[in-house]
Amino acid sequence: MTNSELLNVKHVSKKFEHAEKSGIRPVLTDINLAVKPGQFISIIGPSGVGKSTLLRMMAGISRPSTGTIDFAGRQIVKPSQRISMVFQNFALFPWLTVQKNIAFGLENSRKRNQGQIQQKVRDLINLIGLKGLEAAYPYELSGGMKQRVGFARALAVDPELLLLDEPFSALDVLTGEQLSSDLMTLWRQGDLNMKALVMITHNISEAVRLSNVIYVMNGSPGTLVRVYRLKTPVEQRTASQIMRKTLE
Ligand code: ADP
Ligand code: MG
Repeated sequence: MTNSELLNVKHVSKKFEHAEKSGIRPVLTDINLAVKPGQFISIIGPSGVGKSTLLRMMAGISRPSTGTIDFAGRQIVKPSQRISMVFQNFALFPWLTVQKNIAFGLENSRKRNQGQIQQKVRDLINLIGLKGLEAAYPYELSGGMKQRVGFARALAVDPELLLLDEPFSALDVLTGEQLSSDLMTLWRQGDLNMKALVMITHNISEAVRLSNVIYVMNGSPGTLVRVYRLKTPVEQRTASQIMRKTLE
């Protein structure tokens, strides 16, 4: 491993035990992937191949059965504020206002006092386009606005790595494209602390539009079968065609 790598997944496999069948089911095998600063990585693959399982291990929510995942040179053993995650179904706290949802990860912060937390939340509300909705509850919001809260909550802790599990797939196409292009603007402006992103998606054109490295996951147990590094529009078009074939 070199120091330039932010996240390093080495020979990771994951098995789940089936309580009822007293059997063991391998879900992922020999996953190898390195995330470098500046990269926006997408992972595409069919449903059930283990994409969310891999992302949860990167977040420290779940542990590999074998292999290791290092973040900034140290093995990930539990969740930390340096890595945060956005979920397909928003996973907001329904009993909390927008303001409190966003502040959630900061409440136990030793780095910030209440005034600083409030300021941080206000900044994010402006940045992510949630102005005027501070006191609203999740049920009062459209899907697009809910996911804006999901992004703001994930970004509140100033993560170095942002993990996205199909963040736009519950939204209609236009809403998803608007939110993803707002995210890209923030990412490219570079005024977030974020060094890299890893996104899971079903959507090849979304992966090609947003990311510079695309992994294709397939098989049972799932593994990474291809990687595309996209630099030019020609490569992007070719990659789309090849990926469609890989997934057929
Ligand atoms: P994907 O995100 O690619 O659709 P998942 O990672 O959600 O796939 O799931 C991959 C497989 O692992 C599925 O068969 C799923 O049922 C199984 N699985 C996921 N989480 C668990 C769990 N906690 N216990 C047992 N099986 C699980
Ligand atoms: Mg999934």
